[in-house]
Amino acid sequence: MASKEAIQVIEPATEQVMAELPRAGAEETDAAIDKAKVAFADWRAVAPADRSALLHRLTDAIEGRSDDLATLEARNAGKPIADARGEVGMVVETFRYYAGAPERLTGKTIPVSGGVDMTFREPLGVVGLITPWNFPLTIASWKVAPALAAGNTIVLKPAELTPLTAIELEKIAVEAGLPEGVLNVVPGPGSVCGRRLVEHPDVAKVAFTGSTEVGRGIAEGAAGTIKRVTLELGGKSANVIFADADLEAAASSAPMAVFGNAGQDCCARSRILVERAAMDDFMSALEGAVKSIKVGDPLSESTQMGPLISADQLHTVSSYVNGDAPVAFRGSAPDGPGYWFPPTVLAPVSNDERPAREEIFGPVACVIPFDEEAEAIRIANDTIYGLSGSVWTGDGARALRVARAIETGVISINSNTSVRVATPFGGFKQSGVGRELGPDALEAYTEIKNVYYATEG
Ligand code: NAD
Repeated sequence: MASKEAIQVIEPATEQVMAELPRAGAEETDAAIDKAKVAFADWRAVAPADRSALLHRLTDAIEGRSDDLATLEARNAGKPIADARGEVGMVVETFRYYAGAPERLTGKTIPVSGGVDMTFREPLGVVGLITPWNFPLTIASWKVAPALAAGNTIVLKPAELTPLTAIELEKIAVEAGLPEGVLNVVPGPGSVCGRRLVEHPDVAKVAFTGSTEVGRGIAEGAAGTIKRVTLELGGKSANVIFADADLEAAASSAPMAVFGNAGQDCCARSRILVERAAMDDFMSALEGAVKSIKVGDPLSESTQMGPLISADQLHTVSSYVNGDAPVAFRGSAPDGPGYWFPPTVLAPVSNDERPAREEIFGPVACVIPFDEEAEAIRIANDTIYGLSGSVWTGDGARALRVARAIETGVISINSNTSVRVATPFGGFKQSGVGRELGPDALEAYTEIKNVYYATEG
């Protein structure tokens, strides 16, 4: 495809164009794949300690640019500056964590007769990384850092709405001394550049984060070349609150567990399951917490929630809060330009209704009552997704019982956190395939090779 058009990058809080850049197409994607293929031979041969040193330099360089990167991300993704700083902090932590990995990618020796058997973790080659617009640099770092540490070279395709921090990352990598061609960024449409990465025979693996719908197409496309895939997809996570929980704590943390990043978070606990006996107390505490959320200018220090990413997203999210929707209460949102939508709580909702079944990806929470533990587990699992979730209870045995019974990749007890650099993250069911972060991610960027060495004379 010809690729002369520009991408206009819009600032969602103002609807103004904040940058224009050339839109990559199939030609540019092929060129980036070729560069990454050429760079692979040398990059995989860099001695582990040297590769580690280069990754530490890259980490320091990113850390040195933290403020600029956070501001760029806050403006482009419309996220509160305090959140953006936290995310860039996680990017630095992720690179630092995997910078230590090249010297720890060990194999095994396996007892066999007649010789010595050993395994090696070999890099895959060129990996294609496709990322979404909600946590642009953070999600890129979860893929880029382990892929580089394992000795792969990269073509990264950021979301067209939020390409700016990925482009900065490519520049920072070159300045930090990463060899030419090791990290290549192609800002362009998913249907063109993303598809090319999925189908190209020289790309060994695609690691994708995005919607379940696009993920299905990627799994299909990858079949043509038996490409390795990691898919981090959508979610509709349950926040299960029993009557014996610390209700104040559960109610005060529930809003940001679904309205954080304006609800555009794959881990959003958008189904709040509340034991009926605690419903009244929980709802009155929740109302206060929702109404106090500060929605506004992403660059203001006190802002807790910004706008949605785009006019399209605003249109989609609005469709879930039509005339019939059981709106219990809402927070505020600014007037004027920007894709604003107030935090909104729907209650009571049945798990069979559309807002409880579909990933809204906006600041809309459904409160679903239940009467007993088995019912809570059944409702929590009655979804195609299985990414995240929480259980709130004062009964330790029940906490573990329910956490084990919910079909989900990550779950927290008396907490709404999902992601840590050192622990595996990913989904059950249609929330994805494979794990990112922690020690597991390195396995997703390597193949095991078994070598047998005969020693008998
Ligand atoms: P999306 O699926 O529309 O796009 C994601 C990326 O895929 C973008 O870079 C896009 O350009 C690209 N793409 C689109 N069509 C493609 C195609 N045919 N072939 C190859 N690439 C293609 O998702 P989005 O709207 O950017 O992000 C929101 C979605 O991401 C939500 O569903 C959310 O749950 C999910 N998400 C999941 C995680 C996770 O870790 N599980 C994290 C963040 C977001």
